[in-house]
Amino acid sequence: KTAAELKELDKKHFFHPTSAIKQQRESGPAFIFTEGKGIYLYDENGTKVIDGMSSLWNVNVGHGRKELGEVAMEQMSKLAFSSSFTSFSNEPAIRLAAKIAEIAPGDLNAVFFTSGGSESNDTAYKLARHYWVLKGQPQRRKIISRTRSYHGVNVGATSATGLKPFRDFTSSLAPDFYYVDHMSPDALRELIKQEGPDTIAAFISEPVQGAGGLHIAPETYFQEIRSICDEYGILFITDEVITGFGRTGTLFGIEHYGVVPDMMCFAKGVSSGYAPLGGVVFSQALYDELGELSTGTLLHGYTYSGHPMACAVALKNIEIIEREQLVENSKVRGAEMLSGFEQIKAAHSIVSEARGLGLMGGLEFHPQPGAEGPLAPLVLAEAAKRGLICRAVVLEGQDILVFSPPLIITKEELQELLSILNAAVNEVEQSLQK
Ligand code: PLP
Repeated sequence: KTAAELKELDKKHFFHPTSAIKQQRESGPAFIFTEGKGIYLYDENGTKVIDGMSSLWNVNVGHGRKELGEVAMEQMSKLAFSSSFTSFSNEPAIRLAAKIAEIAPGDLNAVFFTSGGSESNDTAYKLARHYWVLKGQPQRRKIISRTRSYHGVNVGATSATGLKPFRDFTSSLAPDFYYVDHMSPDALRELIKQEGPDTIAAFISEPVQGAGGLHIAPETYFQEIRSICDEYGILFITDEVITGFGRTGTLFGIEHYGVVPDMMCFAKGVSSGYAPLGGVVFSQALYDELGELSTGTLLHGYTYSGHPMACAVALKNIEIIEREQLVENSKVRGAEMLSGFEQIKAAHSIVSEARGLGLMGGLEFHPQPGAEGPLAPLVLAEAAKRGLICRAVVLEGQDILVFSPPLIITKEELQELLSILNAAVNEVEQSLQK
């Protein structure tokens, strides 16, 4: 099919996730990608762009990794699928669970597999509440999350998402979800006191907020959160869907804060997007307690929990992250990315803030009297013209561009990214002065 034919079929039949439906149906896709190599994506017209977001914060080892394709093919030819329900198991899932237990912080030791981040978070809420049911405290069912948080789009995950537009998008949410200011441990304490500690099941948080605009909590934030949760006996869940597997310059984002959650949700970087996979890691103590208290069957599990091919791909992906020291690269290149952002900020009055932790970064813009709307989408469009794709966050009055390039990015490639970004910011700043 020609590019034009594909575009027409796309407009007609492909209902895109997270898209402006009307605009998509009128204009069709901006890019139809056909190939990926390293940090670059290529479309069918031969256009080459830097994937400044690792696609959706997930292609951590970069595009075009043949060995991941080979391992998938090998596993699919041998055993593409078998269930892990009840007493069935398979080798890749067993080995991956053991590997994640080995590398996860503290005593996080038992892995429940899913196919992605939303399923992982829903699993965490459901099993946290199940735990309290087993403990004879079914009234402990409230889940608290932070403003500006994003936890996915299943009904539970949407309900936990602090970004209000995601919740307002639909008319009915899951009950018993509450939100506190994203930077204030005191706000959590206040809400716990107000609602009563014995009504609260868990608190969930991303170690660094991604889709909500790249917000990094102060150094002491999570220590305070951990101690509040301990004080009131509340389970502490971290959503490492973006921050896991090296994104922030440590293997898991929460390591920056030196605390260990009771449950940790992961997805994305576990397989770098080469296969759909996610999961929740439980602390040894929680897993042991569930084992002791539970008498019946755990009535929770997905057909694809522990999918052999996805798990085999993830094992190889983690091997690559370790072999190529990508966590270290994320830290070193991340520091360079932040300093590049700071230079762009210093040279442009429209930029109000540069933020970053590892290869997760953001550039925020000042509201402009002359501008018709937020600037991030304008800069994004200029960057795309010059060969860089990234993402704009304009929810809740914010005006931020976010970045999460593949962890394999070299010093030279990062300079290329920064120089395109600088040119795009320049262009927008100058156009406002006209
Ligand atoms: N949690 C966080 C922090 C995320 O950023 C995302 C997706 O971007 C999700 C959960 C949802 O993951 P998925 O889209 O795989 O369901």
